[in-house]
Amino acid sequence: MTTRPNKHRPETLAFPTSAVHAGNEIDAGSGAIRTPIVMANSYALPDDPAGLSWSGTDVPLYTRNSGANQLGLQRKLAALEGGEDAVVLASGVAALHAVFFSHLRTGDHVVVADVTYEATWRLFAELLPARYGIEATFVDMTDLAAVRAAIRPNTRIVHIETIANPTTKVTDVAAVAAIAHEAGAILVVDSTFTPPPLYRPLADGADLVVHSLTKYINGHGDAMGGAVIGSAELLAPIKSDAMVDVGGVISPFNAWLIMRGSVTLPLRLRQQMTSAALIAERLREDPRIAYVAYPGLPDHPQHELARRQFAGRGYGAMMAFAVAGDPDTQNRFVENLRVVTSAVSLGHDESLIVHVGTDGPRVARYPDEFKKWGHLRFSVGIEDPDDLVADLLAALDETFG
Ligand SMILES: *Cc1c(COP(=O)(O)O)cnc(C)c1O
Repeated sequence: MTTRPNKHRPETLAFPTSAVHAGNEIDAGSGAIRTPIVMANSYALPDDPAGLSWSGTDVPLYTRNSGANQLGLQRKLAALEGGEDAVVLASGVAALHAVFFSHLRTGDHVVVADVTYEATWRLFAELLPARYGIEATFVDMTDLAAVRAAIRPNTRIVHIETIANPTTKVTDVAAVAAIAHEAGAILVVDSTFTPPPLYRPLADGADLVVHSLTKYINGHGDAMGGAVIGSAELLAPIKSDAMVDVGGVISPFNAWLIMRGSVTLPLRLRQQMTSAALIAERLREDPRIAYVAYPGLPDHPQHELARRQFAGRGYGAMMAFAVAGDPDTQNRFVENLRVVTSAVSLGHDESLIVHVGTDGPRVARYPDEFKKWGHLRFSVGIEDPDDLVADLLAALDETFG
């Protein structure tokens, strides 16, 4: 069998070029120009395996340690986020848990954003404090004095989302990184709502970036995955302890699907952001809409910060809004949509909407209009924006007769 190494490519490539090529190898065995799916659980051992580290993750050995598809996707994500290294896991939540499991001990303290993804909130509000004696303080990350005041001598991690799920509150990553580092803590950033090339938190001082690959990076709604990107030093315990010995490993098939989906990330995201900006404007003009939360709207509380932080590249494609009516009216509106699909998840090719009510402990920390009306979390897809606007307006007409 001949080995045909990849052509030598220039060191610095524009994002869309990296999105196509990074992490992909010509397969030495077949000559295939895309890395094939390798579903084997085990890899051939060297003649003397005694020297191998059974917790090692760089040499393919066993698929819970690493494999061709995982390693390629890790190289790609490190390149796209501008990080030294990356690890891929079974889901976004597996990636979040892997960070906290590997970098926190009993008695440690975490400062965490008051609005986050549901599972993050539950990990810090209930599971980690009750079971492992980890302390958490929930803070409004737009109030930097409050963030500073929440820091304790045992604070190890500050955890934020770039744009919060679901309220779209935007955090100043560089400012919070400075506060964390002053205290000797690391800053972990869930950047699922702001995938590259829109934003790269590592450049603003984040220590670890987490993605739900399930969302924009795969982008086709057909594979779950999660990733952590950062320095090799911070990733080493995540790989050896959380991946190998806790075992939330990604399937090679899913790694391959996400590798393929991510090729079109910059094209999809550009369309989604353009459409989201247009749709947010149209919804806000309509008297039947109670409110629209989207960082691209000039009246969004962190609009200026978002413009500066994301350097005018866009504001993502996630928004929350409500129609002016009771919960029944929200449900009827969703039911009247013909193009937009009612389902959880986000960042897919198809537009997704989910009606979230006004109950539950997290809602107390949401803005007043969310408490009053509930909210529809809306993920704008890559359909034609005119079709999406027409669908939303027709559903409003039908709902309000
Ligand atoms: C979906 C999501 C997650 C969890 O990812 P899964 O792949 O569903 O486990 C984490 N953070 C954010 C912001 C998300 O939207």
